[in-house]
Amino acid sequence: MPRGRRSSKRPYGAPPEALDVDRALGGRRSESAADGEWTVQHVRGGAKTYTCPGCRQDVTPGTPHVVAWRADALLGAEVAVEGRRHWHSSCWQARHHRR
Ligand SMILES: [Zn+2]
Repeated sequence: MPRGRRSSKRPYGAPPEALDVDRALGGRRSESAADGEWTVQHVRGGAKTYTCPGCRQDVTPGTPHVVAWRADALLGAEVAVEGRRHWHSSCWQARHHRR
């Protein structure tokens, strides 16, 4: 089938595709990194202030950010979730490029 010009257009007012994917997955996905498997959840913003492990700055309430925890934790999923970290989205992205 030829690629129709029409299919590349979003209906007026529709959210970007990335948001649809987030929604379909419940905002949660698995990522492989040099230091293991992580479960990553994108959140719209928490009610509390967290410290971002990437830059040691505050993640203030209401800031969309990333929550990540180890998916391959040897101590079990509960402990891993207990040890989850709140990252600025940009810091989480930058993390993959750091050596
Ligand atoms: Zn940060």
